[in-house]
Amino acid sequence: GLVRFNTGNEGASLRVGRIPAGIGGRRLRVVVTGGAGFVGSHLVDKLIGRGNDVIVIDNFFTGRKENLVHLFGNPRFELIRHDVVDPILLEVDQIYHLACPASPVHYNVGVRTFVFVVVQWLFGISNFVIGFLDPSLYYVIGDLQDKCTNVMGTLNMLGLAKRIGARFLLTSTSEVYGDPLEHPQKETYWGNVNPIGERSCYDEGKRTAETLAMDYHRGAGVEVRIARIFNTYGPRMCLDDGRVVSNFVAQAIRKQPLTVYGDGKQTRSFQYVSDLVNGLAALMDGEHVGPFNLGNPGEFTMLELAQVVKETIDSSATIEYKQNTADDPHMRKPDISKAKELLNWEPKVPLREGLPLMVSDFRNRILNEDEGKGM
Ligand code: NAD
Ligand code: UDP
Ligand code: UDP
Repeated sequence: GLVRFNTGNEGASLRVGRIPAGIGGRRLRVVVTGGAGFVGSHLVDKLIGRGNDVIVIDNFFTGRKENLVHLFGNPRFELIRHDVVDPILLEVDQIYHLACPASPVHYNVGVRTFVFVVVQWLFGISNFVIGFLDPSLYYVIGDLQDKCTNVMGTLNMLGLAKRIGARFLLTSTSEVYGDPLEHPQKETYWGNVNPIGERSCYDEGKRTAETLAMDYHRGAGVEVRIARIFNTYGPRMCLDDGRVVSNFVAQAIRKQPLTVYGDGKQTRSFQYVSDLVNGLAALMDGEHVGPFNLGNPGEFTMLELAQVVKETIDSSATIEYKQNTADDPHMRKPDISKAKELLNWEPKVPLREGLPLMVSDFRNRILNEDEGKGM
């Protein structure tokens, strides 16, 4: 391993409790990596709301302090700026591992990029500076970090879980099914992933993370939980990370055309964030390792999604067709019978009810952005 720890207090660490509220009169202590992000911050709200002590670890690569600012000053909440690629010492009962630079905007890594990354490494230039100079490079670096965070970050969090006897939950993704040849996808499906494609840093990074989690479970007896999350939307989503729901909603608000990639007939199934967060907690507190699909089976083509966004925000919005990305999955829809049966969980919020719930948050942030630019 990279680092050997001897803290001297290993014996004092507690096994994970079955009761979410706490253990033996003591409050449950929970770590959320990536807790300043979209899903993470909603999860933190739920955990704080039910009385847990919560420590967020985040390097703010895509996350924002604004997502958590309402918790600053709460004595049960702590925020640590830290990159999970580096080891960390903590004493907790549960670890929700969400940290991952989820950036669907992909670019080819050419010679120019390689030179840039080497220069960055040699001179210690931050990603922010690189992103400022050339946004496309920012995402390439994001890709390289995907792999690093998914492998090194997951390894460190599993090492932490092993040392302190904490329960560990991995937020994997429906992308592990690749461009699926089975529809809808069950957890037993092994997937159809291109290992050398433009999307593969993310897909294969998460597949590796699942492998590591299962190895630590079988080899070191770590109590692991694996969630395969399908496309999720809601307030606090990144405004400009290129996902389809955030793109369409922001475009409709900014009075720009909705960008449909390809012919728009590809499908996805969209889950509202509160449903996901309830599923994650049910999985963590339950007795089953998984993997479990967590998603809403309501399936839409991108053209249908554009129509719902038009109905919700601006019926006069237009559509602009753009070239699709390579290896884009043609269809995706979760089979959630396993989660229904074993976790007693199912999503409650359909797309037409969930979408309006994110509009005011997006409007406010877009307004603030425009004011910041002096518009
Ligand atoms: P997000 O980008 O909003 O959140 C990820 C968070 O991780 C950010 O706050 C980021 O700053 C942090 N982070 C990234 N690299 C880090 C590092 N090395 N060290 C510490 N923190 C780091 O994304 P999200 O949508 O909230 O996704 C959360 C998790 O759920 C991710 O693991 C993602 O792969 C998974 N997931 C999300 C979806 C979805 O539709 N939102 C679908 C499938 C899986
Ligand atoms: N690790 C960590 N915090 C801990 C314990 C371990 O960050 O409290 C890291 C450790 O640095 C190592 C990784 O987790 O890189 C895997 O740890 P493990 O003990 O499983 O592996 P080993 O060090 O035995 O190879
Ligand atoms: N997409 C689109 N317009 C956009 C962004 C994405 O039509 O502005 C399409 C994309 O090609 C894909 C689908 O929407 O078919 C979902 O893309 P996203 O990146 O949100 O999620 P993922 O591909 O990871 O499921």
